[in-house]
Amino acid sequence: MIWYPYAQMKTLDAPVKIARAEGVHLYTEDGHDLIDSVSSWWSVIHGYNHPEINAAIREQLEKFAHVMLGGLTHEPVRRLSDKLAEWLPADLDYCFFSDSGSVAVEVALKMALQFNTNRGSDRDMILALEHAYHGDTFKAMEVGDDEDYHFAFGKNSEKKRGVIHIPTDISALEDAFSCYGERLTCFIIEPLLQGAGGMRMYDVSFIKRARKLCYEYDTLLIFDEVATGFGRTGNRFVADLVLPDILVLGKALTGGYIGHAVTVANKKVWEGFMSDDPTHAFMHGPTFMGNALACCAALKSIELFERDDYISKIRRIEEITRREMAGFADPRIKEVRIMGGCVCIEVYDEKTLCGFKKYAYERGVFSRTFLKYMYAMVPYVINEEELVTILNTMKGWFDNFRG
Ligand SMILES: *Cc1c(COP(=O)(O)O)cnc(C)c1O
Repeated sequence: MIWYPYAQMKTLDAPVKIARAEGVHLYTEDGHDLIDSVSSWWSVIHGYNHPEINAAIREQLEKFAHVMLGGLTHEPVRRLSDKLAEWLPADLDYCFFSDSGSVAVEVALKMALQFNTNRGSDRDMILALEHAYHGDTFKAMEVGDDEDYHFAFGKNSEKKRGVIHIPTDISALEDAFSCYGERLTCFIIEPLLQGAGGMRMYDVSFIKRARKLCYEYDTLLIFDEVATGFGRTGNRFVADLVLPDILVLGKALTGGYIGHAVTVANKKVWEGFMSDDPTHAFMHGPTFMGNALACCAALKSIELFERDDYISKIRRIEEITRREMAGFADPRIKEVRIMGGCVCIEVYDEKTLCGFKKYAYERGVFSRTFLKYMYAMVPYVINEEELVTILNTMKGWFDNFRG
């Protein structure tokens, strides 16, 4: 029996069975052709079945699929960490690989905590954002604040003590630092765009102020760019605009091919672990960290991103989205938000979206709404006609039922 995610198995709608996928198209077993508006949880930025990524994986597969990084190493992981060090801004150079975004967030939080213990500090708090989503493992859930995920803890559970959540508001930020600044190990944020918490977008001025305060209070700034990285906000990384101390990447890292993630530290963090004292070493090591097939997929994915000027592709997606959404309104809609390769229609009542998935399916679009959010995060290789089909389907749902 397959246990599906985020679903009551008793009442689960049958998932759509995929036989083949190519570019932005999902082909179902019963012959439907669906344009994918979700990019398999925002990761498949080059589309499916990409010949060059396929070839890169095949080539490595002939050598070996995986060897552990405990006592062993290999070319693909060396090349990927060199590439990331060169490609990412400033001294974000030190790459700790893991197999998923949640684990990479755990690694970042653990790094920040131990960075402080190593220097003899007893800081014991973490600052995070309201509506944050950082993954489904326990500490990631604690720094998270996604309504849908509170069931495990209860909103004010004891277990969350030590994590402060603030809104993306500069005065709340300043208050938090003046109250707790000396006690904070880190401030973790999804910069500019909060994904699973409802595609909430906020201004870079908040992040710039956070950067200054983190310097002032000697607190590490962590960017969880698992969702925003690789162009989703229209920026290559938000870290290109404001520099964090630790950067977490996942999802699109391998072009959506193989689950892999990386926690990238700057020199200051790295040096916090350099010591003659063995207890200052970072004690973590996922079995599949640095998986060779994942590294080769990631290297090819980054090569395509640069070579084919993906930033201009994303700019075009944003332009078309803005043009198509201009003037679109409905009394049931609270807000339409657009940033880079992300568009979200937030409604007042989640019942408004009930049935949309089937409606979209019948019009050749795969969509997955959650709570009050209907959104598209398309593969960047989408063409104009396909994108307009998705947007028309989203708008059409409201027109269709405008009594
Ligand atoms: C998806 C996501 C994660 C978790 O990544 P997984 O690979 O699903 O564990 C963490 N942070 C953000 C911002 C995400 O969007």
